[in-house]
Amino acid sequence: MVRVRFAPSPTGFLHIGSARTALFNWMYARAQGGQYILRIEDTDKVRSKQEYLDEILDSLKWLGLTWDEFYKQSDRFDIYRQYSEKLLAEGKAFKDGEAVVLKVPQKTIKIYDLIRGEITIDTKELKDQVLMKSDGSPTYSFACVVDDALMEISCVIRGEDHISNTPKQILIYEALGFKAPKFAHLPLILDPEGGRMSKRAGATAVTEYRTQGFLPQAIVNYLMLLGWSPGNNQEKVAMASALKTFSIKKINKAGAAFSFEKLQWLNSQYIKEMETSQLADLLKPMAAARYPQANFQPVEFEHMVQLYKGRMNTLADFLEWTDYIFSGQVCVDPELRAKHLSQDMRKEFDLLAERLAALGDFNAKTTEEAFRAVVAQLGIEAGTLVHPVRVALTGKAVGPGLFDTMAVLGKETAVHRLKETFK
Ligand code: GLU
Repeated sequence: MVRVRFAPSPTGFLHIGSARTALFNWMYARAQGGQYILRIEDTDKVRSKQEYLDEILDSLKWLGLTWDEFYKQSDRFDIYRQYSEKLLAEGKAFKDGEAVVLKVPQKTIKIYDLIRGEITIDTKELKDQVLMKSDGSPTYSFACVVDDALMEISCVIRGEDHISNTPKQILIYEALGFKAPKFAHLPLILDPEGGRMSKRAGATAVTEYRTQGFLPQAIVNYLMLLGWSPGNNQEKVAMASALKTFSIKKINKAGAAFSFEKLQWLNSQYIKEMETSQLADLLKPMAAARYPQANFQPVEFEHMVQLYKGRMNTLADFLEWTDYIFSGQVCVDPELRAKHLSQDMRKEFDLLAERLAALGDFNAKTTEEAFRAVVAQLGIEAGTLVHPVRVALTGKAVGPGLFDTMAVLGKETAVHRLKETFK
């Protein structure tokens, strides 16, 4: 029976690297029809915070990594104490003040790691190990071993930074008379420069990605590629198909470089394939929070979403690009103004404003006809007018088609903005 666990400490927000550890545990359990356990390692009373715990649970649920069993180490102090007393009674541990310390025997220890193969360690390098601290709380390794044994974890899948803890933990298993599980230490996630993933390389907390408008499907898809590959250079992978081929043994032991661009690309793919109405449901509350004054009409809102869907890398892009609609005003940055609006085009703008104002139906088709008639009458290239008009109406140099944009702005606003530009 496959039983795996993800064991975060609630001493910070869920890190993107920890989310990958959770994902690989979860995928392994789901692929094998096993159990995935969430164990909160909150023995450090000073650094553990409820706020972090809430966020970790929330982020895991948002990613869809739901668990079959749940434990909190702070509920289990009696169990750790009982096992430390057993070791004391058997003479395998000794007391140092109030602390309980394991006697480390001299020997070599072999660890079989599913990703790295055999690792041999000489315990000469190890000092005697504190199991219970003088304040009555267990050390990380002791609580971890007692729990992994009692919870019948079949394989410990965790970050490579825990390899150095493994020999001590093996000694604790042996002292307690428990059989050690298998181990699989995942490669580090590196930033694009090859360093350890840090804030410099982009966000490190899952919740930051969430606020930036990444979809959970895209994050999960991206994370599964960090160290594992479904083959055939496949990048966009559906979970159901990934589960058919996922195997711990196929995880690479070299560090996996994090690419923000690839994550963005995947996110844009998931956005594109989403139903517009579903996407609108996600965007609506974000837009309402950002533009509290705006009045969102469902049909128009969906139409906006439709227009931008193919261009967005993140949901935040939509909010940023549509400010000229939802904020009720247009804001042109000085650089764009210098590039596209430095030449006085009052005459052209006024004529266009006049023609647009005269339209009955105001849609992408009628505005385009009016626009074409204006450039023909003035004897100028459409391109000479398209860019200045777009910048004047939206404050942006790029966006969906100009006439679609005019249509969503509506006649009154479009005409008003054109008239105001060169005042
Ligand atoms: N609480 C440890 C951590 O967050 C878990 C290590 C382990 O999986 O054994 O790093």
